[in-house]
Amino acid sequence: MQNMTRQLESYFSSEGELAHTLTNFQFRQPQQDFATHIAEALNAGDTLMVEAETGVGKTLGYLLPILLSNKKVLISSFTKALQDQIYHDDVNRLRHWVAPDKRVAVLKGRANYLCPEKLKRTQSDAFAAPNEVSEFAQVQAWSYRTKTGDLNELGTLRTRVRSSITLSAEECLGRACESFNQCPFYRARERALSSDVLVVNHQLLVASYLFDSDLRAVVESRDVQLLDEAEHLPELLQNAQFRLFDFIWLKDIVRDLATLVSEIGSEDPLLKRLLQQARQHEQGVARSFDGVFVSNATSFELNSKMVDLLDRSEAMLSEFARTLNPRRQQSRLMSQLLKACAERAAQLQILAGDIENGDQAVWGQQEFDGLVVYGAPSADKELPRFVELDATPKIFVSATLSLGGSFDFFCRRISRQEIRGVSIAGSFNYRSQVLGYRPQMVLSPEEDHYTTALLRQVFNVLPKKTLMLFTSHRALAEAHRYLVDKKRTSLYLQGDASAQDLIKAFSREDAGILMGTRGFWQGIDIKGSGVQCLLIDKLPFRSLDDRLLVAGSGESAPGDQIFAEFLLPDCALRLRQGFGRLIRSEDAQGLFIMGDQRFWDSSYAGFLQQALPEFSWTTDKEAADKFLRADA
Ligand code: SF4
Repeated sequence: MQNMTRQLESYFSSEGELAHTLTNFQFRQPQQDFATHIAEALNAGDTLMVEAETGVGKTLGYLLPILLSNKKVLISSFTKALQDQIYHDDVNRLRHWVAPDKRVAVLKGRANYLCPEKLKRTQSDAFAAPNEVSEFAQVQAWSYRTKTGDLNELGTLRTRVRSSITLSAEECLGRACESFNQCPFYRARERALSSDVLVVNHQLLVASYLFDSDLRAVVESRDVQLLDEAEHLPELLQNAQFRLFDFIWLKDIVRDLATLVSEIGSEDPLLKRLLQQARQHEQGVARSFDGVFVSNATSFELNSKMVDLLDRSEAMLSEFARTLNPRRQQSRLMSQLLKACAERAAQLQILAGDIENGDQAVWGQQEFDGLVVYGAPSADKELPRFVELDATPKIFVSATLSLGGSFDFFCRRISRQEIRGVSIAGSFNYRSQVLGYRPQMVLSPEEDHYTTALLRQVFNVLPKKTLMLFTSHRALAEAHRYLVDKKRTSLYLQGDASAQDLIKAFSREDAGILMGTRGFWQGIDIKGSGVQCLLIDKLPFRSLDDRLLVAGSGESAPGDQIFAEFLLPDCALRLRQGFGRLIRSEDAQGLFIMGDQRFWDSSYAGFLQQALPEFSWTTDKEAADKFLRADA
């Protein structure tokens, strides 16, 4: 280990090899300390939690000891975009200088690779919409050129095209397949098995443990796992364990009807009525179980609500199928849509029956792609936590794992045993880089028109470039309406495009407001000039009855205990994550607006305030203006 420590010091020193090879490299003691902790854990085979504040430079800080070690390491990132960045940019570049003989590989889930066998079976006349036909032709041409078969090379594909060229683990023929030797997934898997450093993503990791033995064999071939942005893992695992079905198919129905209206004629009253009906239903589904908050309903009420939603969806689809049937010869898309409606209606009927007759509590949650339905495990079934999935040592890395210096909350979510945690402070000076602004709110967060009242309070303070984080889609929509009424332009709204495209477009602009809910609280990084202001509308509490959190806690404790042990720390951690979007470099400055007065006035205010770094607060608009002008 002493040898490794000396090597790290030599690489990281201001006269060292990194300073000579990497542009913009600067010696940072916290980065070297972070790398030393990673090296020690790798060497000892320890499971460890390492929190490194934003600005420490953790990617380089863990890649260097990994490349210098003699262990086979799996690196897992939260998103596929970050996975590609680590693989293509960071690790391969560093490997070139540090360990040119090391084999580095990347592996994604099956749905990310072309299945040549399925492509052979799919004919272009399987598609009815012209844009799908042309996209499929592009896929066919690309299939001759690609060296990896990674669909990411093609950008975003339409759902139907994508599903016509990919296969799930259950459908795959494996070694019995004629195309096995050319199969991109299995070739990537072979490279992964023989690699020294393997880069995957959290979704793949969770799938490998729960559903896919081919992936599990790869994951288990590693000596150590390093889990970047590890704060997401408990929830991803839990969601996968509890997920039953979703309503993402509704988007396809709406899109197909819209295509028919534009192709067959916008004056067709029947198609227009069906499209309007489908859109209204889509909006109704989007409001059914809104955002972070799940109603405090009993399981019986939630199940009844879900059955009612399924019944209404089934009735609508059956009506569509009946209505379109006489016109099925009119276009291929029409007959395709008719078939999809009839099949989906039959599925929904079965699901509704299962929920009605079963004893499992189900509930819905609005996620990025739409409503997802979860079912709680039976009370006597204890689900494994992440560390318990296998015996491989795991190093959890993130900017937000602890609260008030304690790792207890995160640790309980990943393990029933204690795990050691270390924190590495960053180099940001929040006292000078951040000013908090407290608007004078009369309404409380539960009251109607709260979001409008908040925006009215802060509208004149908002600088050119602002990020707004909401706790529900309803609040986001209300804020959007207010800003449109006020003629505010350059609004980037979650759902208008993929999160990645939205953030990229917003990052390029000098002015604009990026507005998001749940997914935007964590892991998004605004490049370029960053943001001048972050607004949080409400404290990101889950409801006391949030089934995912409570079921995942393995507790059957009274409400106040669940609040103190799970809901409050969960909220504090989310708040830290949201706040972390504001300052991304040492020379950045930002105004932080907190709308929720409970942050100051509640009995738990001190706990929440401790979750954030120290900086000054003001209620004075002039002071906020002055602070922002100083940054301009
Ligand atoms: S092995 Fe499976 S995924 Fe690969 S080409 Fe054959 S069927 Fe498709």
